[in-house]
Amino acid sequence: TEQYLAKRDKYLMAQARHQLYRKPLIVERGSMEYLYDIEGREYLDCFSGILVTNCGHCNPEINAAAREQLDKLQHTSTFFLTRPMLDLAEKLAEITPEGLVRSFFVNSGSEAVDGAILLARKYTGSKTIIPVKMAYHGRTQLASSCTNISIYSDEEPGSEVLNIRFGYNGYCYRCPFQAKYPECGLKCAHAVEELIRQSPEKQIAAILVEPIQGVGGVITPPPGYLEVLEHIAHYYGGLLIIDEVQSGLGRTGRMFATSESGVSADILCLGKGLANGLPLAAYIAKDGIGESIDYPTFSTFGGNPLSSATALATIDYLIEHRLAEKAERAGERFRQGLEEIARESRWVGEVRGRGLFLAMELVREPGSKEPATEETLAIINECKENGLIVGKSGPFTNVLRVGPALTITDEQIDQALAILRRAFKTVEE
Ligand code: PMP
Repeated sequence: TEQYLAKRDKYLMAQARHQLYRKPLIVERGSMEYLYDIEGREYLDCFSGILVTNCGHCNPEINAAAREQLDKLQHTSTFFLTRPMLDLAEKLAEITPEGLVRSFFVNSGSEAVDGAILLARKYTGSKTIIPVKMAYHGRTQLASSCTNISIYSDEEPGSEVLNIRFGYNGYCYRCPFQAKYPECGLKCAHAVEELIRQSPEKQIAAILVEPIQGVGGVITPPPGYLEVLEHIAHYYGGLLIIDEVQSGLGRTGRMFATSESGVSADILCLGKGLANGLPLAAYIAKDGIGESIDYPTFSTFGGNPLSSATALATIDYLIEHRLAEKAERAGERFRQGLEEIARESRWVGEVRGRGLFLAMELVREPGSKEPATEETLAIINECKENGLIVGKSGPFTNVLRVGPALTITDEQIDQALAILRRAFKTVEE
């Protein structure tokens, strides 16, 4: 381990040297719900490589399909058509909410968001994009300018040059209006309209929003919030871009967080779990919108046969093993356990999330809501020392994020909760 840490310090850029742990973990291999470090220690993984390996690490069924494709055809570029890419586009049209039919494939969530913005701008003729506070949309310049968490970006959020202005997220725990849902009448969502009215150009290209803000702290907006944003976007001539890079593909107990919600994205961004860990992302648009850029644009690796075949096997696995339903049931068990820990601990301000996309926000005391940043990191480290991986999030890094493989069993959930409970006790003492 020491030898590899020396390589990190010598050869990686500063921006790549931030790790989750005080004593970094060098991962050697993974098997479904578990990871193993280079010294052979086992960890129950409740972070899934930032909520990516929804079907487990190195899932044998999915990897068999990947291996078969790897030996058949690995790369062509988007100059050529391949069967896996076309089959995947068809499959996405089938499984995504109704109306979303045309896909463009790229390699990362950031690129999917960039592509969706370019498409919305071209379709509407407006440049104005409205993301919301505490959003995370990626690290390319456009996506990072739509990101509103200062620790992750040097870009000035909401830059005038880029025509990006931020609305409010639906963060009830720290409501900027000090109001209570539902008496608030969803002031946060309606405030977006004021923002548009104040701008010289009354038309917008799009409102861009995550149904649950992952990196922002698993902020789960109240019912009706997305519906208001959808209405406002359309009223001002814009589109609704929904970024389900993190929430999509079974994670929330539905195939998509917006499935069955009554909200319908004009463009949907997917990534992360799409190929269960191989690089692949997509943006999928309604018919007319997806046709609005007609000059050729390329992505050398986007939709490559290896990632596409793996994505097809991933989606088949999700459906065959009913992983969205499982996530809903397992999520209830996990959530109950987190709530029990919250009752025992003096630091948990709120437990939130949906399905297996869960979090606890830690505060020094419930009254002040002062972020318990050090304490959160100490608990995450303590869990790791005891064989459990959980993630962090939130602008103050005081949100403990839980996102295991959707295949997690009841026994594994109980094991994770036991380690977490002990970690709270140890750190609180
Ligand atoms: N959108 C959301 C909602 C995300 O959570 C992320 C990654 N955390 C991205 C976009 C960017 O994805 P990538 O890191 O693959 O570029």
